[in-house]
Amino acid sequence: MTKHIFVTGGVVSSLGKGLTSASIGMLLERRGLSVRLQKLDPYINVDPGTMSPYQHGEVYVLDDGTETDLDLGHYERFTNSPLTRWSSWTTGLIYLRVIEKERRGDYHGKTVQVIPHVTDEIKSCIANLDAPDVDVVITEIGGTVGDIEGLPFLEAIRQYSLDVGKENCLYIHLTLVPFLKAARELKTKPTQHSVEKLRQIGIQPDLLICRTEHTISEEDKAKIALFCNVEKKAVIEEKDKDFSIYEVPLGLLENGIDQLIINKLRIDKAKTINLDDWRELLLRLRNPKHDVTIAVVGKYAKHRDAYKSIYEAIIHGGIAENAQVRVLRIDSEFLDRGDTLQDLMKADGILVPGGFGERGIEGKIRAIQIARENKIPFLGICLGMQCAAIEFGRHVLGFEDANSTEFSADTQHPVICLLDEQRGVTNVGGTLRRGAQRATLRENSIALNCYGKQEISERHRHRYEFNPEYRERYEAAGMKVVGTSPDGKLPEVIEIDGHPFFVAVQFHPEFKSQPTNPHPLFAGFIKAAVEHKT
Ligand code: GLN
Repeated sequence: MTKHIFVTGGVVSSLGKGLTSASIGMLLERRGLSVRLQKLDPYINVDPGTMSPYQHGEVYVLDDGTETDLDLGHYERFTNSPLTRWSSWTTGLIYLRVIEKERRGDYHGKTVQVIPHVTDEIKSCIANLDAPDVDVVITEIGGTVGDIEGLPFLEAIRQYSLDVGKENCLYIHLTLVPFLKAARELKTKPTQHSVEKLRQIGIQPDLLICRTEHTISEEDKAKIALFCNVEKKAVIEEKDKDFSIYEVPLGLLENGIDQLIINKLRIDKAKTINLDDWRELLLRLRNPKHDVTIAVVGKYAKHRDAYKSIYEAIIHGGIAENAQVRVLRIDSEFLDRGDTLQDLMKADGILVPGGFGERGIEGKIRAIQIARENKIPFLGICLGMQCAAIEFGRHVLGFEDANSTEFSADTQHPVICLLDEQRGVTNVGGTLRRGAQRATLRENSIALNCYGKQEISERHRHRYEFNPEYRERYEAAGMKVVGTSPDGKLPEVIEIDGHPFFVAVQFHPEFKSQPTNPHPLFAGFIKAAVEHKT
């Protein structure tokens, strides 16, 4: 029988519920259990694909093309739980399904209501991950307890334990225990209030995870336990980790969370834990042999979460190469401000990430020109590859107005353009070329050298493509298409002859990098940066 863990959050948002859920998943997986993770987000967008990164951070993409919340990126970096479209739900998607059923007549004339129809739909999404070979499903509820839009989700998870048996469900509530400077004290009241809110809905948490800057005293733990009606040993401290997010699971392990969960859910097949590889990666992070600076040039430079997976993949590349990586986040709109250009020139590597829309494009092109001309290692991702093609067209091939038709519909040189499958698409949501696509790499390329194999599969999320009509002219001038779709038609990877590391890819390698399994392109990029520096 599949057991269920529900993770809710209270007091404030941004407590790291995703990271905590991922860490719990990882610990259970390493106790030999088969785990699945999913996220239920209460907003009305059908998926986060239509949301600006300013709103909700990066849009994370799964193999099957599902556009999801960035927390699913944490799940994939920490665990090997396979994620699919069944792992990501929103109010919008749930309602869409309910309304489609109503239109089909599936409700046989009934009045369709939040309870039971919407809550039933939510419960069916949760149950969807049950399988004979799945031991535990971890369901994270987005938002904070007390949000109006979260209510149907909380009601559904409350009912869930009635349906499958209380002994098969575990409720974990993540809260904040703030430190009041003036009083020089940790405060437990917000946690008490948050649990009170949850209990009003009918959910009694089994386990409290308390985010805190300082150690929570035994006395405070006892107080939280008493007022929140949980056992004292189930009040788990989760102290801020200044050094690395990859320390979070170790902190939870020290507090015995895995055993508590296993006992409470009465799971009898758990093994002893082995975290040797994880400890090893932290050791490498702590004892780097090199240090390099990578400039990430994008329009969301100020927003930490907008390029989440890229920043993580850079760290993973550093782990692979024993390098501490300092990331310089450069706003592509303001390249000429202050010392930015000099900083860029001094960087050991330049990365231009993906994006949509014209804002900041010229700065990205300028940064790529600097990387190309100064032989600074360069990694271009999606829009970053498209900008690399534009830059090369303008400055090497002499196509002055070379552009993408995304930014200039009537350019003389549409080196990036829409191909047939995207012409005529009018809806914005869910219509990009998305998900895992295979590609074949050419002999004697840097990319092949990194991957060590010719056939690869990487995730995509874009509408525009390198215009195949320009391919020959580019290759003749030194920009080579070294990776294509298996039929040879779509350029997927480009490189420049004679540059130590100039690799630009139409896909998103950052979505497949794990700290224990750094992505080969990021490892290669950091290696090139280390070599560039020395
Ligand atoms: N805007 C570009 C396109 O649609 C690039 C997308 C991306 O970088 N993810 O093709």
